[in-house]
Amino acid sequence: MRKPVVMGNWKLNGTKDSVKELVTAFVKVAGDNKKVDVAVCAPAIFIGQVESLAQGSDLKYGSEDVDVHTKGAFTGENSPAMIKEFGATYAIVGHSERRQYHKESNECVAEKFKAAQENGLIPVLCIGESEAEYDEGKTLEVCQAELKAIIDLCGIEAFKNAIIAYEPIWAIGTGKTATPEIAQNVHEGIRNYLKSFNAEVADGVRILYGGSCNAKTAPELFAQKDIDGGLIGGASLKVPDFTAIIEAATANA
Ligand code: PEP
Repeated sequence: MRKPVVMGNWKLNGTKDSVKELVTAFVKVAGDNKKVDVAVCAPAIFIGQVESLAQGSDLKYGSEDVDVHTKGAFTGENSPAMIKEFGATYAIVGHSERRQYHKESNECVAEKFKAAQENGLIPVLCIGESEAEYDEGKTLEVCQAELKAIIDLCGIEAFKNAIIAYEPIWAIGTGKTATPEIAQNVHEGIRNYLKSFNAEVADGVRILYGGSCNAKTAPELFAQKDIDGGLIGGASLKVPDFTAIIEAATANA
C-alpha cells in the first residue's frame, strides 16, 4: 500500500508574510493527518524560514531544484548539502519549467537526481510531455526517455527512494487538468515501464499527478489506482484549496 503524498510547489512566489501564513496553516493540517504525507517545496531563499516554522512538525519540505555540485565556483546555485542542512526532505528535479527555461537535458536532470540522493534528499522527478507531443501520441515515449536517463545513471533501485511526478506540460498552470482517465493511463504506463526493470520497485514507487490539480479535480484523480497524490502549483498557495486537496488524498488513502 503506497502512502499518498500531497506536495506544494510554490515556484517563484512568496513573501516572508505569506510563507509564515502558509507554513503555520500546513503544519496544523499535516499534524492532524496520519494518512497522507504533506510537504511544500519552497524557493531556496525561504527554506530557512520554513525550517524554523515547521521544526518538530509533520510538515515536510524541500527545494524546487538543486545543483549537481557540492561546492565551488558555481555562482547562484544551491547545493543539495546546503538544502539538506536546513532540514529539507525533498528536492524537485526536472520540473518542466527548468527543462524549458534553463535548458536542462534528461542527462542533467539525472545528475541532479543522483546528487540529491547522495546528499540524503528524496528526489521528486518531474516528467511529462508537451501539448504537441501529446497530440502526436508520444506521451509514454517522452516519459520513458526521461525515466531511462535516471535508470542509466543511477539504476532502477534508485526509485526505491524517490518520487515521480507526472506533469503534462499542457496542464501546468493552464487550468486544463488531465482527465482522470488520461492521467491513470499514463501513470499505469509509467509503472509498467518501471516493471520491465523491477516489479517490486515499480509497485512501491509513488507517482504523483501535477497540472492544474485543484480542490474540484483532485478527488477523482486521486481515486485512480496508480495516482498516489499530487504535486500542486497554484493551489498550494491558498490555504483552503491546498487543504481540500489534502482531504481528497486522505479520502483515498
Ligand atoms: C507545477 O508547477 O508543478 C504545477 C503542478 O503547477 P499547477 O498546479 O499550477 O498547474
